[in-house]
Amino acid sequence: MVTILVGGQWGDEGKGKIIDLLSEKADMVIRSQGGNNAGHTVVNAGQEFRFHLIPSGILYPTTTCVIGNGVVLDPRVLLEEMQQVQSRGISIDRLVISDRAHLIMPWHPILDKLEEEQRGDDRLGTTWRGIGPAYADKVRRIGFRAGDLLKPRFLEKKLGFVLNKIKNPILQELYHVPPLEPQAVLDEYTAYGEQLGPFIKDIFPIVQQALTGNEQILLEGAQGSMLDLDFGTYPYVTSSSPSAGGALTGSGISPTAVDLTMGVFKAYTTRVGYGPMLDGVVARYSVALNGIRSIALTKLDVLDEFDPIRICTGYISKGELQSYPMSNISHLKHCEPVYETLPGWRSSTAGIRRPEDLPKAARRYIDRLSELCGAPIDIVSVGAARDQTIWMQGGQTGLAVRQREHEPSHP
Ligand code: GDP
Repeated sequence: MVTILVGGQWGDEGKGKIIDLLSEKADMVIRSQGGNNAGHTVVNAGQEFRFHLIPSGILYPTTTCVIGNGVVLDPRVLLEEMQQVQSRGISIDRLVISDRAHLIMPWHPILDKLEEEQRGDDRLGTTWRGIGPAYADKVRRIGFRAGDLLKPRFLEKKLGFVLNKIKNPILQELYHVPPLEPQAVLDEYTAYGEQLGPFIKDIFPIVQQALTGNEQILLEGAQGSMLDLDFGTYPYVTSSSPSAGGALTGSGISPTAVDLTMGVFKAYTTRVGYGPMLDGVVARYSVALNGIRSIALTKLDVLDEFDPIRICTGYISKGELQSYPMSNISHLKHCEPVYETLPGWRSSTAGIRRPEDLPKAARRYIDRLSELCGAPIDIVSVGAARDQTIWMQGGQTGLAVRQREHEPSHP
């Protein structure tokens, strides 16, 4: 049983909490794209955990947590995170790192920053963590993979080419900054290899075994669909594919193995200066793009005091109604949003646990969103804690039924 979980908007939808809820039933959780530019926050028994690379399923003692081939990982950051998790009494024995995952090398953050500075006013707002340059090198086929850490001689040879012939000349001649010392890089990365070695594996047979054993596999998405390299608001996007397609290539799972794609949406979209509103156009687009058949709507409690609440149901561009965001974001700037106004509920939802206890106006808002998006809302989150959750179809059965509905008819 494979469930893909994706962020439906621009990230920060509160995926961490939903992933944590679903991980309880998962035998394996796989992170399939992004790097330590993304992160999830999980609040568990009053303790807050922030994860950047390790799947949050690590909080459950029997879940296998896989860092998939689609991830780019900074070994230093990963080691720090592993230490932090361990220092809080959590075992990392069930962590597996794909030997195909690409590495952030020391020149990536440097080039990230230098390139951003060169863009001036047109900068992308990257995190300077080297994620984009690492993905670019993967595509240029000069990337270093986690498996390379286990082969110091190969690492040395490759550094001789990539660092000496490509990266150092760029640093020195283009940007006039000091070059990197190959031996120092080799020593640093060989040491990472020694520490990470026991976790680095070919994940393909491991994932295949889980699939044939009909294990519950959760593909945890990072970031959000509108940051997708192809379908997001290019160029203000991330360098990987956070949509459902990316989850598959980033983990080596085939489309026919997927039972359900779940989308996490915040109950609103923040737009500075205009107050909260939900961009229903983006939500509908995400549902269609990812094949979302189940929605987790988070942070409903944030809207408790807003009245009225507006939902954007379409964009008008050059006199024509557009039902999806356009591919060219410069056109978006000239669009006029079409709003639908619903009454707010002006009461706290934070303590509500059953759908029937929701204020009528909140229920109406949820139902209308579901209708506009074209997918059922199965989970409503009304706070950061695990129990601040309303299962809209009663217990977890709604979700299970939806999974069964999408089971392939052949064995
Ligand atoms: P991600 O980027 O989608 O993984 O976002 P995070 O998991 O980092 O979540 C962003 C923040 O929202 C965190 O501080 C969460 O604890 C918080 N959060 C998650 N769900 C809810 C909710 O239903 N209500 C409120 N008020 N906060 C939430």
